[in-house]
Amino acid sequence: MLVKSTKNYKKIMLLALVTVLAVTGCGKNTGSEPAAKPEPVALQTNSLPSETLHVEKVENMKDEFILGMDVSSVLSLEKSGVKYYDFDNKEEDLFKILSDAGVNYIRVRVWNDPFDASGNGYGGGNNDIDAAVEIGKRATKYGMKLLVDFHYSDFWADPGKQMVPKAWKGMNIETKTEALYEYTKDCLKKLKDAKVDVGMVQLGNETNGAMCGEKIWMNIYYLMDAGSRATREIFPKAMIAVHFANPEKAGSYADYAKKLNYYNLDYDVFASSYYPYWHGTLDNLSNVLSNIAETYGKMVMVAETSYAFTGEDTDFQANTISGGSSVTKNYPYTVHGQATAFRDVVDTIANKTKNGIGVFYWEGAWITVGGNSWDENSVKWEKYGSGWASSYAKEYDPNDAGKYYGGSAVDNQAFFDAKGHVLESLKVFGLVRNGSTGEVKADAIEDTTLVIDINGEIELPKKVNAVMTDGSKKELDVEWLNVDYDKMKKNGAARYEIKGLAGGMEAKCYVSMIEFNFLENYSFEEGEKGWKATSKRAIDELYVEDKSTDSLTGTKHYHFWADKTKSVDFDLEQEVKDLPAGNYKFAISVMGGDADNVNAYAYVKKNGEVIATGATTITSYNEWHEGRIPKFEVKDGDVIAVGIHVSCDPKGNGAWGKIDDALLNSVAE
Ligand code: CA
Repeated sequence: MLVKSTKNYKKIMLLALVTVLAVTGCGKNTGSEPAAKPEPVALQTNSLPSETLHVEKVENMKDEFILGMDVSSVLSLEKSGVKYYDFDNKEEDLFKILSDAGVNYIRVRVWNDPFDASGNGYGGGNNDIDAAVEIGKRATKYGMKLLVDFHYSDFWADPGKQMVPKAWKGMNIETKTEALYEYTKDCLKKLKDAKVDVGMVQLGNETNGAMCGEKIWMNIYYLMDAGSRATREIFPKAMIAVHFANPEKAGSYADYAKKLNYYNLDYDVFASSYYPYWHGTLDNLSNVLSNIAETYGKMVMVAETSYAFTGEDTDFQANTISGGSSVTKNYPYTVHGQATAFRDVVDTIANKTKNGIGVFYWEGAWITVGGNSWDENSVKWEKYGSGWASSYAKEYDPNDAGKYYGGSAVDNQAFFDAKGHVLESLKVFGLVRNGSTGEVKADAIEDTTLVIDINGEIELPKKVNAVMTDGSKKELDVEWLNVDYDKMKKNGAARYEIKGLAGGMEAKCYVSMIEFNFLENYSFEEGEKGWKATSKRAIDELYVEDKSTDSLTGTKHYHFWADKTKSVDFDLEQEVKDLPAGNYKFAISVMGGDADNVNAYAYVKKNGEVIATGATTITSYNEWHEGRIPKFEVKDGDVIAVGIHVSCDPKGNGAWGKIDDALLNSVAE
């Protein structure tokens, strides 16, 4: 790439020099490095006691450890009428509430121009630099530093989209680089003029191989480098962070760090998003970040994390995580679960990750604007930008925001309830430093799931698992309430949600009454498993075949064939162990052809003796015939086997057939 600007030309020369030095082994280039690298400095260590939180102390916590929070949406929320209340139930500045509880850093996203031509905001807080200055001033007022999170876009930047700002559209990389440099400088000057305590600047947001409309690393580097130079000029003591997502994708972080090292980007902190639902284990997070810290001497941190304190939504805008979400759920969706989830991320970064400097919680105050319907809330989201996106974002982001605009998708992950009252869990920010030994008690009851045969005994569990506030599990006695056993017995196949009480908390048992098939591998999808074939004569083929067009259900069935010189005579059988006493029925299906003198039947054996048979036959291709035994009795201790017998003589090229779908079900008395 031909680069005309003087600054970039110098950089190219520098790269060439680095290459030469590397090849000749003369040593490491440090020419472009500032004299002293920014270091973390001591931060506030406020803490509030808790009588209910059980927080295990995080060892090796330094006073410079960052316990931050992103509250970018706050100004729009306040304009929408949202108020926040402290632990004394007093209306208070959000920033004071956070600071008192131990938050020592605020993160704010910055979009270049999140407004349409008429000045309507795109939403998500309408976070331009002016909003960042306001937020920064309030953070500074309460002793918290600011992380300025440049998205270098007019709206959300994440692994799914990295759209170029409107004003920079169509620019070549040189011009865009210069524009980004000037823009970053202007923004940081505004923060400096407002005396905001900027501690860190982030170059792009979740830039997984793309940024600001650019998708090749050299161009991404040019842009990041411009942001880095601007930051060093305006805030020489501020740390410079890069930010990526998806630590669970093997090798991706090592690859990003390698690219940045190759281009010799001047940065201090390699930051990751870590949402426990999607982003792999904490051990993996620690490993991938430690690897970068060791290899490149960088500081590392979590720039975004969060956890749900409830599965419920409060603003009529569906949440990214709800009670029914099928995601990794290592903590209950409770106030305490939220605190423990955060504590464990802090523990991982502070205590188990090399050069770990901090953790930021994402949008911990983004609650409902309080209306009684989506439409009622939407008026405020549209007017003040307090939802994740407004309809005005359509012009810039037609495919996502333009279609799905609305409110907060994370109101159930805030540290405030729907009325703005602070949750006890916020105190975890301070309590991680010294621990808190609140009384260990049940925090959540695990749901129980039962599958019962429609004619079986309905026995609900006497104990349920409780997740305790110290993270341990304990069995508690449970009392199930209002269970209508007669109705459940009579209604046949159905699903029930039964509620009960355990340790003073609600317990739930989900009961599925189904027509249970007591056979394993009833449709031969697991091959021969459970089945045994015994042939009285030589037969050419007798095995499980994988061919969906010849199967009754699934793709597999039991196949037999003997050539025209041979007769067929075999049993295919499954023994059923520990069949509960009661009445049963059995059925099995067969189809086939080219057979004469067919003698085929389903059978039931009790203690080795055939006690019942049900005739079936073989006619021609795809004509399935079922052999049935409508009822037989089983007593305790009986050894039961069920199967099919087939014997026949050949016709044409020899008798063949397919057996499938063996059903052993209970029968009502
Ligand atoms: Ca919501």
